[in-house]
Amino acid sequence: MDISKIFKNNHKWVEDKLQLNPDYFKKLSEGQNPDILYIGCSDSRVTAEDLMGVTPGEAFVHRNIANMVPNTDLSAMSVIDYAVSHLKVNHVVVCGHYYCGGVKAAMQSADLGILNPWLRNIRDVYRIHQAELDSITDEDQRYKRLVELNVEEQCRNVIKTAEVQRAYNDRGITVHGWVFDIHSGKLIDLNIDYLKIMENVMEIYRLE
Ligand SMILES: [Zn+2]
Repeated sequence: MDISKIFKNNHKWVEDKLQLNPDYFKKLSEGQNPDILYIGCSDSRVTAEDLMGVTPGEAFVHRNIANMVPNTDLSAMSVIDYAVSHLKVNHVVVCGHYYCGGVKAAMQSADLGILNPWLRNIRDVYRIHQAELDSITDEDQRYKRLVELNVEEQCRNVIKTAEVQRAYNDRGITVHGWVFDIHSGKLIDLNIDYLKIMENVMEIYRLE
């Protein structure tokens, strides 16, 4: 990749935006008021804004390998706290994707160094759902199902936070689990039973 091309692209992007609205960047500099927190994978093919069709200012975004929400990860926890308690988003989305390298790596028996503790969180998801996953004979299907179950478990981790529980009581914040299918370009709503998960989580993890 020619890095200098990026600055040319940026220059053109600025011109395009200003042509549509001369105050575009002035307005952007005044602050943000996003209604959605998007937690997705760092995968270069899964571009948050593009696949949702949103513009700058509309989504607060956090991306890491395999869209994880570990409860000891300072970065993910800070993002949730800031988005939910300060920006007051009304929707939190965990978006996984089929053909996720992180999920695939977690399905293989290999020492991956610093990635071991990170991917162990996905192996834990496998352990929790082992009976269902082991019953799927087709490897591709099993891999896709793990992507979906991982999204659901990360939604559960989002719901375990005090910020989200408080925002649920105060203003009925909603948590969504989605999967982006790279093969078709389609965004799939897993239609997680958010209220039932909330109810289950509250039995043990209630903080509010
Ligand atoms: Zn991924």
